[in-house]
Amino acid sequence: MSTPAKLPELFGSMVFNEETMKERLSAASYGAWKKCVTEGTSLDISTANEIAEAMKQWAVEKGATHYTHWFQPMTGVTAEKHDSFISPAGGGKIIMEFSGKELVRGEPDASSFPSGGLRATFEARGYTAWDPTSFAFIKEGSLCIPTIFCSYSGHALDKKTPLLRSMDEVSRQAIRILRLFGDTETKRVTAQVGPEQEYFLIDKELYNLRKDLRMTGRTLFGAKPPRGQELEDHYFGAIKPRVAAYMKDLDETLWALGVLSKTKHNEVAPSQHEMAPIFSDANTACDHNQLAMEMMKKVADRHGLVCLLHEKPFAGVNGSGKHDNWSLGTDTGKNLFKPGSTPSQNAQFLLFLAAFIKGVDDYQDFLRATVAFAGNDHRLGAQEAPPAVISIFLGDELNGVVESIIKGTQHKDSGKRTLEIGVDVLPAIPQDNTDRNRTSPMAFTGNKFEFRMLGSSQSISGPNIALNTMMAEELKQFADELEKSRDFQADLQKLIKKVFTEHQRIIFNGNGYDDAWIREAEKRGLCNLTSTADALPMYTAKKNVDLFVKHGIYTKEEINARAEIHVENYSTVIGIEANTMIDMIRHDILPAVSGYAADLCERAASKEALGVSCKYETATARETAKLTDALMSACDKLERDLAKMPADAKKAMVYAHDVIVADMAKAREAADKLEAITASEYWPFPVYADLLFSV
Ligand code: ADP
Ligand code: MG
Repeated sequence: MSTPAKLPELFGSMVFNEETMKERLSAASYGAWKKCVTEGTSLDISTANEIAEAMKQWAVEKGATHYTHWFQPMTGVTAEKHDSFISPAGGGKIIMEFSGKELVRGEPDASSFPSGGLRATFEARGYTAWDPTSFAFIKEGSLCIPTIFCSYSGHALDKKTPLLRSMDEVSRQAIRILRLFGDTETKRVTAQVGPEQEYFLIDKELYNLRKDLRMTGRTLFGAKPPRGQELEDHYFGAIKPRVAAYMKDLDETLWALGVLSKTKHNEVAPSQHEMAPIFSDANTACDHNQLAMEMMKKVADRHGLVCLLHEKPFAGVNGSGKHDNWSLGTDTGKNLFKPGSTPSQNAQFLLFLAAFIKGVDDYQDFLRATVAFAGNDHRLGAQEAPPAVISIFLGDELNGVVESIIKGTQHKDSGKRTLEIGVDVLPAIPQDNTDRNRTSPMAFTGNKFEFRMLGSSQSISGPNIALNTMMAEELKQFADELEKSRDFQADLQKLIKKVFTEHQRIIFNGNGYDDAWIREAEKRGLCNLTSTADALPMYTAKKNVDLFVKHGIYTKEEINARAEIHVENYSTVIGIEANTMIDMIRHDILPAVSGYAADLCERAASKEALGVSCKYETATARETAKLTDALMSACDKLERDLAKMPADAKKAMVYAHDVIVADMAKAREAADKLEAITASEYWPFPVYADLLFSV
């Protein structure tokens, strides 16, 4: 990108945002769009036509030639199919056209997207429908229109539809609670999300020499390099010029697309970095995170780099995750998770806190399932990411408040009295004290919760759908009860105390990496779902299906279909990894080490003939031969076992986890030992020291 215009002009320059709409639409059409977004009304076709025409004109002025509905199928990445604006105008000429109908609705052939059996092939058509709450933008010469994606029979086939439904539902239930506290103004409560995105940057030439990185996004082999992350000098360290140039380009690219890229820094592992945007509504945050991941890869390519978004590209150093910062905000500008300064604000805060705590406890298994996939299995519970057990960290101050409410005792800071909800002011909760515990999967960080179990490559949609929906459910239960109350203050006190007491088990402020915690969690009856194979069955547990069906987020068919897609994905990914491994062992590693051993033997023989000592050659050749045999047997076993993968998806998932992953570990062990003793010139691909310390 050329030297940017001043940042405020650059920002959003490729976005058909509200300001542009105000400028380019008639007052009536702008008003209709605004109403559609804030009140959920529909747009008539003449308004749609006017918006389409204005969008097209704007896009063509910016050099766009095509448009595409931009959607988020269950692949977890975005999809697009580009049509040009051209339309024949007689005499061999064309005009540029784009109608309201084309804006509002599309009909891509959907038969090749995962549907979990929701769409039979005879009704291959899928529909995309404009999401007017997320702005259209121009990317690489195409006007991109964010859309939902559903089947002919109306089933959601994407990650946006249920997210929008869950945002509506949590808003509805939160407003019922706000009304009880006398708030008559708030019309909409919006889930707010800020996802912090981790990634690795490595050199493209080296990347191209590694089949495993190209096929699977992670290294399947790699002995520990002489140096990893033990010096702890990379985290927040000075950014190297090549990385700095990349980050600058990425920022400018994202800013033009209206993404609020805010923070960039080096992460813990060598070659690992992070980008964090400023938070926005959950729908925009999800769209923008998809765009950010896409641009991270594309911008890297321009710089001769490759951006790895896999959760565990390298064994032995930290993997990459995504921290999902989540809160609820009102259209009047209030954050419902900000502890207030008056007794009544605090009572309201405590009620929302109680709903969150109860929600996480009630649906811990489902939350865990939303972050369960093959890539993330390398992180959760591996002493670097949060453990697989879900718990909530509140920090000392807030925990003190919760405990004093449970025990009915005096809170140490509240003077002489027992803390009375709705009557007393809460002690101050210092913000910067709340975030110290990096081992917690769900941390209260002053005015939001940070869900830290997400994998770096995943769409943030699923986890946020779960957070919104569990919150909607708990708020609904509270509203149902409190709306009937004759003595609001007394019943509120009782309710909060009861919820804190019954769900205190989910609160944990200690070290989540400690084995003692895992034992303690078991005593408390918390779930410890250590792998995808353990966690995914929770997706369709009856209570979870009931939750989503009851709130209209998924139909029963939709949630079952999603579970099926996730289950199938696991054994597919493991299968690809296993096949790549076999390929590399047979075509690259075995021939290389065989050549090495043969050369050593030859040298040993010629040395011996002269009566020169050949201890090194003989010993190394023997060790190499031993490990080569071990590697060959491990590879044979992997291949045999892979051929026995069950056809049934659920069985295949368990089998892939229990058998194939174990076989792969065995093969890797032999290969990594070989790497450690093989002369560099013989080893068939770049090693960790090259990959991690080259940029
Ligand atoms: P860190 O976690 O690194 O200390 P911050 O806590 O400042 O950094 O912010 C992390 C992310 O949380 C950012 O994307 C930020 O915009 C987002 N964030 C801040 N406040 C909220 C909020 N109320 N709701 C949702 N996300 C928020
Ligand atoms: Mg954070």
